Amino acid sequence: MKKRLKAYNITIKATSLSRYKKSYPLINIDFVDGLEKNIKEGTILNLYSTSKQFIALAYYARQNKGYGWILSKDKSQQIDTNFFIDRFKKAIKYRDDFFKDNTTTAFRVFNGEGDGIGGLTIDYFDGYYLITWYSEGIYSFREDILDALKSVIKYKGIYQKKRFDTKGKYLDDNSDFVCGIEAPKPIIIKENSVNFAIYLDDGAMVGLFLDQRDVRKRLKTKYAKDKRVLNTFSYTGAFSVACAEGKSKDTTSVDLAKRSLPKTKENFEINNIGNQNIVVQDVFEYFKYANRKKLLFDIIILDPPSFARSKKMTFSVSKDYVKLLKEVISITDKNGLIVASTNYANLPKEKFKTFIDKAFKESNCRYKIEEFFSLPKDFRVDNGFLEGDYLKVFFVRKLT
Ligand code: SAH
Repeated sequence: MKKRLKAYNITIKATSLSRYKKSYPLINIDFVDGLEKNIKEGTILNLYSTSKQFIALAYYARQNKGYGWILSKDKSQQIDTNFFIDRFKKAIKYRDDFFKDNTTTAFRVFNGEGDGIGGLTIDYFDGYYLITWYSEGIYSFREDILDALKSVIKYKGIYQKKRFDTKGKYLDDNSDFVCGIEAPKPIIIKENSVNFAIYLDDGAMVGLFLDQRDVRKRLKTKYAKDKRVLNTFSYTGAFSVACAEGKSKDTTSVDLAKRSLPKTKENFEINNIGNQNIVVQDVFEYFKYANRKKLLFDIIILDPPSFARSKKMTFSVSKDYVKLLKEVISITDKNGLIVASTNYANLPKEKFKTFIDKAFKESNCRYKIEEFFSLPKDFRVDNGFLEGDYLKVFFVRKLT
């Protein structure tokens, strides 16, 4: 174990005490006093009430969400290999059904504060593990965390992503490989028996967003059959593949990134699915084209990034979702289904619902919400931190 820096004492503001007593896990600059500028990443913080009562122990880390995360309510808790072993064992036990399921070989093993350590996630891809470090603070525990992980799991190989930037941006190292044997390029994982190609050492993203697993399954098993599907912001085409596996009539995947074309093709190929449309284009341009050609779809999937910038424009969910939905509504056939999704943590579910309502009203259409999805079981959420429950997906039927 590495010798750690001397712990720091900080004081919870009286107005925030009840929040921390209810297990709020984030060190938020507005809720505490005593955070000096020169605290080193990874320093242990002892949180006290204004009346000097010990409340919790945390680690200091500057990242996009705040200044660190609570680790324990026990003042004497050592943050060492054994501490991490205990947390990892609990996380693995909670996901026992995933480890046993041969039809799904990719899932989240450890979900940050949801599993008791904010700023750290671990994903599983068919025997390979991917650790994502969200700050230099958590990275300072790297040795203990790696020792702990290796002692509780069998692994083929371990990879890592560093997202130290205060905006959560990916730091490009020469290689993301940590130890074990190198993963095939790609690993072919299974998700509810559908194949997907995963690249663990090819930039920030690996090719599949695991948090949409349940949505893909529902599209495949309940909605896709015989339908004309449009997948906007399609990335590697995962939703399109799920629909094609569910015997859709056809699928069209639209994404601006050139790389999306070969990646989407590959995902179709490894499932032996032929003949699908893949379009490399700005979705707003595609909407113009579709309107001009009077195209109509039975299912449209709308899962944009929270923020995006292209040559011609910038997009943000809070500013532009209604506009985007109206475009989608205009090319959805009567009785068609719109899958309206966002992963923007700062947009509450109820507010997102008002966007849907506004878009349909302004389009003079009626609608019905058929289903709602949030994060799947493996993306465990801390009840004291609902901001962590970021995914919101409405299945909306266009009635008229
Ligand atoms: N819905 C996908 C993930 C989307 S990731 C899935 O679940 O698999 C966001 C994608 O949006 C990226 O692939 C990015 O290239 C694409 N993108 C961003 N701005 C875009 C735009 N204006 N038009 C089309 N695609 C865009």
